Amino acid sequence: MVMDRYPSRLKRLRSLMRKAGLPSLLVSHTSNVTYLTGFTGDSSYLWVGSSEEILISDGRYTTQLEEECPGLRVHLRKVGERMASATSTALAAVKPATIGIEAGTMTVAVRDELAEKLPKAALAAAADLVEQLRQIKDKEEIASIRVAVEQAERAFRLVSAGVRGDATEKQIADQFEAALRHFGATGSCFPPIIAAGARSALPHARASEASIAGAEFVLIDWGARNGLYVSDLTRLWVTAKISPKLERVYRVVFEANRAAIAAIRPGATAQQIDAVARGVIHDAGFGANFTHGLGHGIGLDVHEEPRLSSTNQRPLEPGMVLTIEPGVYLPGWGGVRLEDDVLVTKSGAEVLSTLPKSLESMTLNL
Ligand code: ZN
Ligand code: ZN
Repeated sequence: MVMDRYPSRLKRLRSLMRKAGLPSLLVSHTSNVTYLTGFTGDSSYLWVGSSEEILISDGRYTTQLEEECPGLRVHLRKVGERMASATSTALAAVKPATIGIEAGTMTVAVRDELAEKLPKAALAAAADLVEQLRQIKDKEEIASIRVAVEQAERAFRLVSAGVRGDATEKQIADQFEAALRHFGATGSCFPPIIAAGARSALPHARASEASIAGAEFVLIDWGARNGLYVSDLTRLWVTAKISPKLERVYRVVFEANRAAIAAIRPGATAQQIDAVARGVIHDAGFGANFTHGLGHGIGLDVHEEPRLSSTNQRPLEPGMVLTIEPGVYLPGWGGVRLEDDVLVTKSGAEVLSTLPKSLESMTLNL
């Protein structure tokens, strides 16, 4: 445990707050509170002033708070008391004139309640301040993501080795869940997507009661939560003879994935990396069938900044961990996606995921 981890994060946050002209910030997004304090419970806000912090939490967490963030000043909400009211009580002594609120995640209802309970404070919309810090992972975070990738890959190998040709998507999803836990993960970080045949054309298909029998291939998108940090991968299982169409679509997606990873380096923008993959898919005639961004940051959340989209001009920096997941979706036939987890390094990129990517290597002997 890096002892100065949280003070150093708070220091960097305060520097961003100063640049944004915010003397104080109310951090309400659960993962952001965890990032700044180490507290892993929910329903808690962290108020950050120019030289002090107050965590507004509740009595269920008394013991956990002592264990996870000893020394942090805590105000406990009374049973049944509203968060806005507890926040107002917690801040009664400091009387902040301006409070930044996390406009990207706070609901309008909570904002209105806060405005009512803190009539003398100006509430100022703040955009993604903690999210900006979270984009760059420290050594310990990277180590934790590496383990999450390893757990996910071991689960994939185990389930791949034992799957039955008549298993349902749901049964396979359950096998992934069990395997992830067996290899030390807290569990899946999202419900595994197991999509057979034509169902794989839905990028976010939920595992159904349909059997994989008769499908040419199955798309598997899964990830592990290792304590607080996650991984997020996609591979295929080829369950029949490889058809020329699958071969062709797969080659395009594979090349988009490869070219995008090769283009990653500090200073390249998220948009540029997205454009590399999009260009490969467009040139192959499938531009209209790549219906989502190229990837996203992973960390405490499965989807976090930076988004690799056609509009994000954020330059990449060492310490970012990104998914690279180009896909081609052909309604009625199926979808092919290949997703790796990649660390941006000083000189380029390190691919954290190691599962092989040739169609032959993903062919199951059923
Ligand atoms: Zn995924
Ligand atoms: Zn993803």
